[in-house]
Amino acid sequence: MPELPEVETVRRTLNMLIAGKKISRVTVNLPRILQKPDDPDVFAAMLEGHTFQSVERRGKFLRLLLDGVTLVSHLRMEGRYGVYRADDPVEPHTHIIFHFTDGTELRYKDVRQFGTMHLFAPGQEWQSPPLNKLGLEPLSDKFTPDSFLKALGRRTTKIKPLLLNQEVIVGLGNIYVDEALHLAGVHPERTADSLTKAEKLRLYQAIVDTLQAAVDAGGSSVKSYVNGQGEMGMFQHQLRAYGRTGQPCATCGSPIEKSVVGGRGTHTCPSCQIGPRKTARSQRAKAAKGNAVKRRLDGTAQ
Ligand SMILES: [Zn+2]
Repeated sequence: MPELPEVETVRRTLNMLIAGKKISRVTVNLPRILQKPDDPDVFAAMLEGHTFQSVERRGKFLRLLLDGVTLVSHLRMEGRYGVYRADDPVEPHTHIIFHFTDGTELRYKDVRQFGTMHLFAPGQEWQSPPLNKLGLEPLSDKFTPDSFLKALGRRTTKIKPLLLNQEVIVGLGNIYVDEALHLAGVHPERTADSLTKAEKLRLYQAIVDTLQAAVDAGGSSVKSYVNGQGEMGMFQHQLRAYGRTGQPCATCGSPIEKSVVGGRGTHTCPSCQIGPRKTARSQRAKAAKGNAVKRRLDGTAQ
């Protein structure tokens, strides 16, 4: 599934390709992609005659702004956009076609058919699903150390599923959660409330650094191309943990291990990311040592 860096790459490319293009008509081959309105004729009528102004992003959602209407699109597993000439052959799994007045077309292809599209009057998209309950936007000005500490609060949830929860923080999926946790040296099964403030701040910085590096590299998925010419992201060459089972950790050289956390395949370094049991043990050991020192000091005081 494309995550923030891949969707951001799609956003930038789409913005270059379609801003200023006016829709003459819309072909809907697979109505199940349409969530609101779900009637293909109503959907098409709401878009025809309107011009794309810009393409924005909120989490993993694209917001395609037209004059007078906003299209909210989620690519889910395999959704892809491409701009073609009207006489280019239509590839299989092309479900929606936006025909432009200049003889080109924006085509939406989706092999798995899980993608979604919603139409709203401009600004109304923030009032209802799918955008109304989204959490912190990393790489935005509002994502500060304080806002991140507050979002984690005293939650007793394991940190990995918490970071995957789009109502807490948006844009992170399985790849970048594993990457950020590895970079921060935090084990995915630690509960949020067991992290020290220093660990939480390290994790905050790791999320920012990982996502920014991936955006700069154009994402890390071959699914990120949008122009039908196979433009790919390059971040897969910089991955630290994700998909590197058995390969040496970039920090310490220990082989990366794979496990399942919250139902998701998870990649960790057994040396750099210490699990909750060992952490509790070391905290107890530290406390015991502290008590021993205290007893000694108390003893000298008497
Ligand atoms: Zn390591």
